[in-house]
Amino acid sequence: MKIIAIGRNYIDHAKELNNPVPKEPIFFLMPDSALLRNNQPFFYPDFSNDIHFEVEIVVRISRLGKNVASKFAHRYYNEIGIGIDFTARDLQQKCKEKGLPWEISKSFDGAAPISNFISLDKFDDINNINFRLEINGEVVQKANTSEMIFKVDELIEHVSKFMTIKIGDLMFTGTPSGVGPVKKGDRLIAYIEDEKLLDFVIK
Ligand code: ZN
Repeated sequence: MKIIAIGRNYIDHAKELNNPVPKEPIFFLMPDSALLRNNQPFFYPDFSNDIHFEVEIVVRISRLGKNVASKFAHRYYNEIGIGIDFTARDLQQKCKEKGLPWEISKSFDGAAPISNFISLDKFDDINNINFRLEINGEVVQKANTSEMIFKVDELIEHVSKFMTIKIGDLMFTGTPSGVGPVKKGDRLIAYIEDEKLLDFVIK
C-alpha cells in the first residue's frame, strides 16, 4: 500500500508558511513504514530539532481505480480516520531552498500516526466534517473539511491521473492552519467531530 499526502490544501495554512495557493493539488508519497498505529508513542528523531505537527483527515481507498472522474470518486472510499503528518520543518526548509525532494522531512519512520478508521455512513457529507487537534489539553488546530481548496473527490481525480489507487491506500488530505512544533512529553489528542480517535505522546 502507499500513503498519498496532499500539500497546501487549506488557504490559511498555505499562507502561514508563505506558500502560494496552488492551482492544482500537490502531493507526495510516504512509505508504509511511516505509519504509527494503536496510539503508540512518537519518538523524537535525532536528525531534526524542529518537528511540527499537522493534523489531517485521512481517507482510506476501498476500490482499485485509475483515471477516476471526480463525479465517481465517492465510490472509491468509504472510511475516514485522522492522522498527523509530522514534518521535520528544518530539513524541509533546506530541501525547499535547494529544490530537492523533501521525503527525508516527511516520510521517515513514525512520521504518520493514524487512528482507526470509521465508516462514512455516520456522516451526511464528507465535505462538512469538523476535526481538531489538542496538545496538552489545548486546541491548536480546528477546521472543517468544507475549507479544503480541493475536495476529496477532486484529489482522487488528480492523483489517479498519475498513479493507480489501490484498496488500502491512504490519503492524507492536507492540514489547516495552526501547525507548530512538538516537544518531548507532549500529549496529542485528535478528534473527528466529538469522537476522540487518536491519543499519544511524544517521547
Ligand atoms: Zn501535511
